[in-house]
Amino acid sequence: LLLYSLYIHIPFCIHRCSYCDFNTYAGLDALIPAYVDALLKEAAYLYRSYGSRLPVHTLYLGGGTPSLLPAMLLQRLVDGIGECFELRSDLEFTLEANPGTINLDYLQSIHTCGVNRLSLGVQSSHPEELHLLERQHNVFDVIEAVKWARQADFQNISLDLIYGLPGQTLEGWEQTLEFILKLSPDHLSLYALTLEAGTPMQSWMRRGLLPVTDEDMTADMYEQASVFVENAGFEQYEISNWALVHPSTRLLSSQHNLQYWRGLPYIGLGAGAHGYVDHTRLANLRHPAAYIRSMGEVKTPPAFPLTPATHESHHNELKEDMGEYMMMALRLVKEGASVKEFKERFGCEMDEVYAEQIRRLIVLGLLKWDNGGEILSLTRRGRLLGNQVFVEFI
Ligand code: SF4
Repeated sequence: LLLYSLYIHIPFCIHRCSYCDFNTYAGLDALIPAYVDALLKEAAYLYRSYGSRLPVHTLYLGGGTPSLLPAMLLQRLVDGIGECFELRSDLEFTLEANPGTINLDYLQSIHTCGVNRLSLGVQSSHPEELHLLERQHNVFDVIEAVKWARQADFQNISLDLIYGLPGQTLEGWEQTLEFILKLSPDHLSLYALTLEAGTPMQSWMRRGLLPVTDEDMTADMYEQASVFVENAGFEQYEISNWALVHPSTRLLSSQHNLQYWRGLPYIGLGAGAHGYVDHTRLANLRHPAAYIRSMGEVKTPPAFPLTPATHESHHNELKEDMGEYMMMALRLVKEGASVKEFKERFGCEMDEVYAEQIRRLIVLGLLKWDNGGEILSLTRRGRLLGNQVFVEFI
């Protein structure tokens, strides 16, 4: 049975952080109730056009700041989603939350709604770094958020950090890592800062107001973090993601993100959300007001998997599906790209289709064969230069 993942985008934030280029908006909170209505209409639309409830094994509310959704609206959303999709009994249900926007009451309520995985945007333990990033929380908010989440019985807590910040030192980064490990998370996502065009931080950097990020130092921070968190009992399963090896349970890797990396289908609901269904890539209208409007309009209904909010769709050719599989699967540092899986999905041999690219990347020391030639994966050096590898498969 082919299981789907469902992503719901919540494009609202209290303030736009200096480095953020996500599809999110500050000051539009008044739209939230109408936005939830529109999400439910989009879900109902897919239910009708598909003709039955698609089986969903992961549900992810990302943003933006999903924790700005009042618990009552979240309950309404979950109930409506449950009517339009078949939510599996072992559903992984993640909600992204920002420390400082949640309290114990709220966490207990959303746990009751079925949320069983919390992803907290911590980013740093240093006040000056949080200030530079224009995050709205402080370290005390983080400590409390994690404490309350445990009290509310969350057993799968993921923390996000950013490194490679202007002026950041290896020592400062290590202090941040020490700080978060003391919070006993189950999962860690560590991202290098990327300077996106049009963000305040990029313009400060261009005008010489901030020291330029040192790429070698960022690479050293990645290496340092890998050793540090692995010594603390975490296993790396993706370029930027580590999961704690619990002696009694399975590795708490993000099942939702694994769906993307394994090239499996997912549905995206909401403003700017992306989907991948029946070999078709989909993207919705980006602005929440335009999204809400589109779901209110009566027009000729497009066929599944499109909805009235679909802004772009592209049916992948076989070659595109193969390239995307390679790019995504190679992000999985242990699981890698599987020769058998490739053959089953595409009916041809991976090492014939990509003979030249694989040979070149192995010579460069960026890729290696594992399991007697069954699995192709990044070397340790390749993990640092992932983009150089992925571009070969486009
Ligand atoms: S909280 Fe997250 S989504 Fe919102 S502005 Fe900051 S970085 Fe962007």
